[in-house]
Amino acid sequence: MPTDHTSPRWSVRSQLAQAMGRIDAATRAVTAPLHLSTTYVRDPDNQYRSSFVYGRPDNATVREAEEVIAMLEGAAGALVFGSGMSAATALFLSLAPGEHVVAPQVMYWALRNWLKVDAAAWGLTVDFVDATDPDAIARAVKPGVTKCVWLETPCNPTWEVSDIAAAADIAHRAEAILAVDSTVATPLLTQPLSLGADVVMHSATKYLNGHSDVIAGALASARDDERWAKVKRVRATLGQILGPFEAYLLLRGMRTLEARLRLQCQSAMTIARHFSTHPRVAEVLYPGLASHPGHALAARQMQGGFGGMLSIRVRAGEQAAIEAAARVQLWKRATSLGGVESLIEHRASIEGPGTPCPPDLLRLSVGLESADDLIADLDRALQGNE
Ligand SMILES: *Cc1c(COP(=O)(O)O)cnc(C)c1O
Repeated sequence: MPTDHTSPRWSVRSQLAQAMGRIDAATRAVTAPLHLSTTYVRDPDNQYRSSFVYGRPDNATVREAEEVIAMLEGAAGALVFGSGMSAATALFLSLAPGEHVVAPQVMYWALRNWLKVDAAAWGLTVDFVDATDPDAIARAVKPGVTKCVWLETPCNPTWEVSDIAAAADIAHRAEAILAVDSTVATPLLTQPLSLGADVVMHSATKYLNGHSDVIAGALASARDDERWAKVKRVRATLGQILGPFEAYLLLRGMRTLEARLRLQCQSAMTIARHFSTHPRVAEVLYPGLASHPGHALAARQMQGGFGGMLSIRVRAGEQAAIEAAARVQLWKRATSLGGVESLIEHRASIEGPGTPCPPDLLRLSVGLESADDLIADLDRALQGNE
C-alpha cells in the first residue's frame, strides 16, 4: 500500500525525512501514532477487514517501520524483529533440516557462532569460506543441497568487501538464495537486492536506529514468495516481532539516517586518512582507502560513501592497543556500532578465543562529534604518557 511518505516521486532522502509523515486522518498529526493494542475488534460479519487480528504476527507501528525499510531496499516486503540475531536466525529457520548453507569465515561473531554451534540442531550443515573470493564460494556450493549463501559486506571487523552480484550468480545457478547482512553498508550505500540478492538483513540496532537505544533487526525480500511466507510464519509463531515502542523509536531514528550517515562517512574518511600515516599505527582498515584490498570493489558496489566503520592496527601490538583504548576520553569504550556517539573497541577481547580478529586491532565506530576532536583524542591516546 503506497503512502504519502513512500511515494516513488520523491528522492529517498525526502521520503526518509518524513518516515513518520503519514498524516493521521483523525488528528492531522505529522508523526505516526504509536499503536500498543495487542488485539483488534472483529467485524460483526465475522471478518477482520483491517487485516489486524493479534499483536504477535503484526502491529500497525511495526508495519510503518517495515514500509520505510522496504522502500529503502527496493524490496517487495520487509519484516522487523526483536534483534538482528532474531532476523538472521528466522531466515535460517525457514530452511529445512538437511539443507546446506555457505557463510563467510569473517562475519558478525555471534551469528557465526550460532551457525557453527546451534544450526546443527536444526539439521543444517554450514561451510565457512573466504567470501571475498567468488571461486571459493563456487567450490563450496552444492547444487540441490545448498539453499542459502550468506554474505556480510563490508564485514566485521576488517571491512573486507564481497562481490554481491558475483555471489548472486553462483547461488542462483545452484538454485540457492543469496542473503546479505548489509548492516554496515546501510540501505543508502549499497542496495543488495538491485545487485541480485534475494534477502537483505540488518541489525537495525546499528545505523537504522542510530541512537544506541533500541535492539532491533530487519529482513527485506526481493519477492513476496513462498520463502517469504515461511519467514513470516517463523516470526509469528516464535514471537520474534519488534515491540511497538521500539518500532516507534526505530521510525524516529530512520528519519535522520541520511544526514547522520553522510557526516559519518565523511568523518570516517578524514580519520582513516589521518591515521594511515601515523607512526604508531601499522595499518588502517577502511574500504575508502586505496590501500584497502576491497577498495576497487567497494567503489563499484557502494554509492555515496564507504561507511562509518574502520579499524586501526596498533604498531606496538595488543597490549599497546588495549592501553590506547584505555586513554581515550571522547571516544567511548564499548561494543556495538552505528550510533551518534563514537565508539572504540579492542575487538579480540569481546570475540574471545578462536577469533580471526588480529589482536592489535581497535575497531572504531564514527559518530557525529567533530572529526578534529576525535582525531585529537585518539592521537593523544596513541602517544601514551610521553
Ligand atoms: C550487531 C550486528 C548483528 C546482530 O544484531 P543484533 O541487533 O545485535 O542482534 C549482526 N550483524 C552485524 C554486522 C552486526 O553489526
